[in-house]
Amino acid sequence: MNRTIGIIGSGIGGLAVAIRLALRGCSVTVFEQSATPGGKISTLASNGFRFDTGPSLFTLPALVEELFMLAGKNMNDYLRVVSLPVTCNYFFPDGFQIRAWSDKEKFVDEVENAGIERTVIEKYLARQSFVYNNTSDFFLFNSIHKISTYTGEAGRKSLGALHRLDALKSMHRRNKQTFGNTPLTQLFDRYATYNGSDPYRAPATLNMIAHLEHNTGAWFPVNGMVGIINALVKLATELHVDFHFSEQVKKLETSGKKIEKLITGKSEYKFDVVINNADVTGFYRNILHDELRLKKLSRRERSSSALIFYWGVNFESDLDVHNILFSADYAAEFNGLFHDKTFADDLTVYIFISKKVVDTDASAGKENWFVMVNAPENIGQDWERQKEKARNIILEKIKKILNVDLNGLIETEDVMTPVDIEKRTSSVNGSLYGHSSNGALAAFLRHPNFSRKYKNLYFVGGSVHPGGGIPLCLASAKIVDQLIK
Ligand SMILES: Cc1cc2nc3c(=O)[nH]c(=O)nc-3n(C[C@H](O)[C@H](O)[C@H](O)COP(=O)(O)OP(=O)(O)OC[C@H]3O[C@@H](n4cnc5c(N)ncnc54)[C@H](O)[C@@H]3O)c2cc1C
Repeated sequence: MNRTIGIIGSGIGGLAVAIRLALRGCSVTVFEQSATPGGKISTLASNGFRFDTGPSLFTLPALVEELFMLAGKNMNDYLRVVSLPVTCNYFFPDGFQIRAWSDKEKFVDEVENAGIERTVIEKYLARQSFVYNNTSDFFLFNSIHKISTYTGEAGRKSLGALHRLDALKSMHRRNKQTFGNTPLTQLFDRYATYNGSDPYRAPATLNMIAHLEHNTGAWFPVNGMVGIINALVKLATELHVDFHFSEQVKKLETSGKKIEKLITGKSEYKFDVVINNADVTGFYRNILHDELRLKKLSRRERSSSALIFYWGVNFESDLDVHNILFSADYAAEFNGLFHDKTFADDLTVYIFISKKVVDTDASAGKENWFVMVNAPENIGQDWERQKEKARNIILEKIKKILNVDLNGLIETEDVMTPVDIEKRTSSVNGSLYGHSSNGALAAFLRHPNFSRKYKNLYFVGGSVHPGGGIPLCLASAKIVDQLIK
């Protein structure tokens, strides 16, 4: 296939689809407004500390590996990943602690201490595994906006799991029914945040997210999350993908049902096919200028954002790579995020320390703490005040639960607010995952991977089907590749 392809954005979805199409003989050009690739997957060097600034949890590395295999290469020559023995270390407000071991048996042993019968957790995880294995082809690896997906193999396979989808119940309701008032309800409710949603409203179908970590494990690149981007850019460059960094796409010119021209701040280009990897709402607002589409998308609830402190700390903890300190009132926290659009008075704090794998990320005796709380989308809140409020809550919580007073131990501090996320990646309102999945029909309401209006326009990345997060962005690239075929 000798077509010319123009891609707007070099997020992981844009990179993956660039590689797939280059492998099929297309001539691919990627336009990235920033000076560096990767979008939300980025890195920060600060006074001797290195931080991954965006995603930290890496599941389903096989989806990255597939890109190297398609190219006839060995991923290990580009990117080495290690499996994490503990996927996350959970601390509850009452002092209870659960280590989520990758090894399922070990995890089940651990949760028995939380008063859960083995069979209850085993059945729960088996159920999520069943739902994922039977429905992922339909929901994640094909376009649910094409009739052929319903009539084909993926549709038939998912029919067998319909009775387990649980779409009319919320994640929380199902988890509460299963685990009652034990810590496991909160632990499994948390998976709603993996696509920026609210466990009290997101459909229980999404409980299958837990399948990935608990049945398949979590991984980490030996040179940090940004190593994934470096590896993909290297592969893409070898396949002659042409990168134009610091070149923002300003406009698409159309004629009838076709995108005719792609116009950047520097020049004008013609492509057979254009693929958008930028946030889809921003795309209709800033690039295609389609008021009707924009109005429709703007009515839908956005996913949550994040407030992150990058702290270089002058001590060594006994924490793991991923750690969660839960709030005492999870319902109030989500009410704040999605209803009041502000921080509640108690927050769940996530601490990610890549130094636990990448020794060079901080010097001896020090650690790089990426400390994040879920934040509401940016609707013009006073982020200086919000930041101060969250910082105090976080420091207090760390002191109370981990018995560590960080005052005096923080050597360097950088901060990223929802406003910064929007500025750096053009994600509307700083949402991490496009629209939220709060509702039984959310999966079907996501923007398709193709345009119904323009025959040569496609969409990839976290703001379109099947959704946000690294694995789903990689799945969207696979879908676009199939659609262009
Ligand atoms: C703080 C944070 C934590 C996260 N944690 C996790 C996690 O632990 N695990 C996980 O799997 N996911 C996580 N995510 C989500 C994950 O990072 C995203 O879903 C994914 O990286 C999005 O990739 P994408 O392909 O949609 O592109 P994006 O990363 O959104 O990149 C889009 C690119 O398009 C460029 N662009 C936009 N407009 C234009 C234009 N007009 N012209 C040219 N270029 C343009 C942008 O500059 C950007 O580089 C997190 C995200 C954040 C921000």
